[in-house]
Amino acid sequence: MYINKLIKPNVYSLSAYEAKEIPCKIKLDANESPYGLSDKALSDLRSLKSQRLFTTLNKYPDPQANNLKKKASKYFGVRLEKILHGNGSDELIYYLITTFGGPVLYPVPTFSMYVIITQALGEEKIEIKLDERFDLNLEKILEAIKKEKPKLIFLSSPNNPTGNCFSTDKILRIIEITSEKSIVLVDEAYQPFASEKGFLPMLDDYKNLVILRTLSKVGLAGLRVGFLIADENIINQVNKVRLPFNINSLSQAIAAIALNDKRALKARIKYIVSERERLYEDMSKIRGIMPYPSEANFILFRVKDSDKAYNELLKRGILVRNMKGVVNGCLRVTVGTPEENRIFIDALKGIINKM
Ligand SMILES: *Cc1c(COP(=O)(O)O)cnc(C)c1O
Repeated sequence: MYINKLIKPNVYSLSAYEAKEIPCKIKLDANESPYGLSDKALSDLRSLKSQRLFTTLNKYPDPQANNLKKKASKYFGVRLEKILHGNGSDELIYYLITTFGGPVLYPVPTFSMYVIITQALGEEKIEIKLDERFDLNLEKILEAIKKEKPKLIFLSSPNNPTGNCFSTDKILRIIEITSEKSIVLVDEAYQPFASEKGFLPMLDDYKNLVILRTLSKVGLAGLRVGFLIADENIINQVNKVRLPFNINSLSQAIAAIALNDKRALKARIKYIVSERERLYEDMSKIRGIMPYPSEANFILFRVKDSDKAYNELLKRGILVRNMKGVVNGCLRVTVGTPEENRIFIDALKGIINKM
């Protein structure tokens, strides 16, 4: 097909992100929260004031998303000028690479969008394997920084799909050694579920530190709202490549209402963390599988025949993520409701017993 010859080689060699919907009864494959908007948020939404929202859909959304950013500013405890809003944090990753270019360095295995977007934008990638404990291989990373001078360094901590936080000391070493040379992105999609504080308190100490937060893993994946938090100079530059109306008015308004109910968000996060601990304990007791400790809302686990285990779970209506090609021999399960987790554990026990 002549069309193929017209396509940029870096795009032609990509494969589309697997967006297939696999029918299932219990969906534990995408690290979504089992809980959506709080009752308070829902009733705020139903209130008279928000009805205006639906009668003004003929107008473009607020390009600056000021009300949403105000709420985010309060929620995260950072000045509004340090926040850039994205249609999910995926979009903000896109904008970062568009703004700074490559090479882009990241450890592997990690979040798949880093490689997809780097390649889509035709930039160079530097992939450094994690060590056997899934922590950063500092020596190799420092070596690559010196030799290949990456513009951007992406660190997902807690890391997807391994679930662990990288060592804070190692991250700080990387930020310090690259000051005035590279931008270091700490992707905190799962930070709310972690025992450590994360990097927001260090924002003022490091001009090259950029933090990514999202509402997707805490109950609002359908809205597509993420935030880039960084020094004002960085925000102003990245804002130049942002599409003017990137978050639609419904998402802006609903996310603002959800962020306003900080108590409900925090309570749900705490509940999911306690469920994760229970799930981990139950999984640890199953002979024949090996779960990895997690600081996120999912658990990576090793199982003898991962393809078979995946398929057997799906036969019982339970969808998890097969990590084949990313962490071979492993599956990743999202923490669900207590009932979903119990059904998952029972199914897993039965399958392993027969294997
Ligand atoms: C899920 C995930 C995101 C995606 O965020 P969106 O805001 O939904 O685009 C970003 N980073 C990591 C590490 C993730 O796992």
